[in-house]
Order: sequence, then C-alpha cells, then structure tokens
Amino acid sequence: MKGKPLAGRIRADVAEEVRTLGAVGIATVLVGDDPASETYIRLKHEAANEAGMTAVDVRLPPEISEDDLLVKVEELNADESVDALLVQLPLPDHIDEARVIRAIEPVKDVDGLHPFNAGQLLLGRPSLVGATPVGVMALLEGHGVALDGARAVVIGRSDIVGKPMAQLLMQANATVTICHSHTRELGHHTLDADVLVVAAGRAGLVSPEMVKPGGVVVDVGMNRTDAGLVGDVDPGAAEVAALITPVPGGVGPMTIACLLQNAVRCARFRRGELTYPA
Ligand code: NAD
Repeated sequence: MKGKPLAGRIRADVAEEVRTLGAVGIATVLVGDDPASETYIRLKHEAANEAGMTAVDVRLPPEISEDDLLVKVEELNADESVDALLVQLPLPDHIDEARVIRAIEPVKDVDGLHPFNAGQLLLGRPSLVGATPVGVMALLEGHGVALDGARAVVIGRSDIVGKPMAQLLMQANATVTICHSHTRELGHHTLDADVLVVAAGRAGLVSPEMVKPGGVVVDVGMNRTDAGLVGDVDPGAAEVAALITPVPGGVGPMTIACLLQNAVRCARFRRGELTYPA
C-alpha cells in the first residue's frame, strides 16, 4: 500500500479547494532545534506552499518560558489569517504540553489534540482528527480493506496516533484491541489481526511470524537507524501479509496530505461552510 499516489491525489484536491476558498493560512510553532522536528516542519511547509496555502513558520528558542509560548499561541489564535495552528511536539521538558495544547483555539487545532476535539472523536462525532490516523483510514479505504467486523489490532496508545487510530477503526465497526508497552504476549494479539496498525517507534518490533497470513499491515513507525529510515515492522512481513505499507513512502506521505486536508477543514469551519460543533 504505497502512500504517494493517494497522497498526491489528496494534495491536488486540496490545492483546488485552496483556490476556491481564496486563502488558507496554516501556522506552525517549533520550539528548539530537534533535527527530526525540523524535518517534519520543513516537509509540512513545502506541502502547504505547494498547495497554495499561506504558511507561517514560527521558530522559538528552546529556553522559552511556558508563559511566553502561551502568549505566542494566543497571538496566532487571534490572527484572522491563520486558519490552522499546530505546535510541533515534543516540547522541552520544562513546558507542560497539555497546557499548551489546551490553549490552542479548538477550531484551529489541525492536529486534533485539544480535549474538545479528542472528546468529539471519543463520542463518535469527529470534528478535527489527527492527520496520521485519518491518513491510515484513507489508505485502507483506498485499497478496499473491509473493516466492518474485522479484527483490528493497534500497537501504541499515544494521543497523536494510537488512541485516535483505535477510535476511528472502532467507529468503522472493527473489533479493536489496543496493545502497548505493558502488553504481554504481543504476538498472541497480532497473529489474530485482520488489520494490524503499528505505531510504537521500535524498529523491528513486529516480526514476520507475528503477522496473520493474508492480513493487512500498516506500519506507522519511523525509526532513524544506521540502515536509514525504517518502520516498526520487519520488511519480511511482506511475504506473509496480503497488503503492507512501505517505510518510507507509506503512511508518511498520507500524514502530510491529510494535514493539508485538515487545514482546509479548519478554514471551512471558520468560514461557516462546515458547522463546527459548539
Ligand atoms: P509515542 O512514543 O508517543 O508512543 C509509542 C507507543 O508505543 C506508546 O503508547 C507505547 O506504549 C507503545 N510501545 C512502545 N514500545 C512498545 C513495545 N515494545 N510493545 C508494544 N507497544 C509499545 O510515539 P507516537 O508519537 O505515537 O509515534 C509512534 C511511531 O510512529 C514513531 O516511530 C513515530 O516517529 C511514528 N510516527 C509516524 C508518523 C508518520 O507520518 N508516518 C506520524 C506520527 C508518528
């Protein structure tokens, strides 16, 4: 399941929508100079610019205080030209991430991390949902993967990937098991998975023997190793699975495309073209 072709189509649609809307503004906030975060921010800006969006790249020093960061977030909340706002995580240890996320105006919360948007998803009324799980769902749908009644296993329970992923799969009527770092006998669960989504950030966590023959595997993991960028799933699993995403070139491009799609959604909410739940 290559991500690039579908991501390309989504990005072309987004560019068309941006033309129709006139202007769509996205702002990113990066605190510090973590190289991985810098790469993600660069990719997001390249994609946003290519789609014709106005992209604001706010860079702040690693020693910035939590209060000063909150002032910046408030400024961007109040900026009419900013439709979508994201604060790149992780933040330095002295900053309370939850407090910063809560400060983002929910209708601009393009990553779907604000408790209001996360709660909406939990209650089965998704308003803004993180780009990675949305992208995985689009990839599964694009490949005709049946989810109704399927056994789905998600490895990872982060707020940005694992939890929303499990919710979306459940809302698509899959029977969902969530595995995490305290799960015993991981392979016992994964072998049962018609659809296995792996988002642990552990290279080689899932070996071919842990994959159900004929199952569908989505590898969200991105691990920088001496051998380059690798996922969480041993590539040998491709011999066992019916469908599997490559790393790189699988979920990554979908995340970028769906982030842009979410930014358009924020813009439509803000213009009253879509009703943002009050
Ligand atoms: P995280 O560190 O916040 O969460 C990792 C989760 O994996 C945790 O819930 C933990 O319990 C679980 N876990 C860790 N070790 C495990 C083990 N041995 N067995 C079972 N579960 C285990 O990470 P995250 O932000 O959710 O990201 C996960 C991975 O996905 C990372 O590699 C990240 O780089 C990647 N990622 C990729 C994209 C993309 O677009 N491709 C987007 C977001 C994240």
